[in-house]
Amino acid sequence: MSDNDNVITVTGEWRKPPINVDIDNRPFYDGLKAHKLLLWHCNQCGAWYWPKSYCQNHENEPFAANMEWTEASGKGKVFAFNRHHWAFHPGFKDDVPYVYALIELDEGPLISTTLVGETPDDVHDIGQEVEIVYEDHPDQGFTLPRFRMTGN
Ligand SMILES: [Zn+2]
Repeated sequence: MSDNDNVITVTGEWRKPPINVDIDNRPFYDGLKAHKLLLWHCNQCGAWYWPKSYCQNHENEPFAANMEWTEASGKGKVFAFNRHHWAFHPGFKDDVPYVYALIELDEGPLISTTLVGETPDDVHDIGQEVEIVYEDHPDQGFTLPRFRMTGN
């Protein structure tokens, strides 16, 4: 996939709830801005985490030195979804109907998102394959992870 066909640029005012960037998740959002999905990865056993956590499989090195932000595939499957025909927040008014989904990334962690690029009716079952789309918001200076169906 080229760098262009998995990037959406949205300009103008941001009307949805603010995103919460803090010291623990800043590398995740910095990665998105660079169009990379970074997850918290254990270099000792290979487990992946999102959000950031100590590895739960063994004792961790001091200051979690065994853990590192590492680029993930950006691919996953629909774990759960619901279709919104009514906006629960005014910022989503122009998006309805839209699909809110929990994605099980190929690396294991779950990530919540709304789906893009297809009509909501294309989502009909858990296990359908998806891939990440980077939604750039240059006016706000952040990028959000969204996902689209890959047709399987
Ligand atoms: Zn581990």
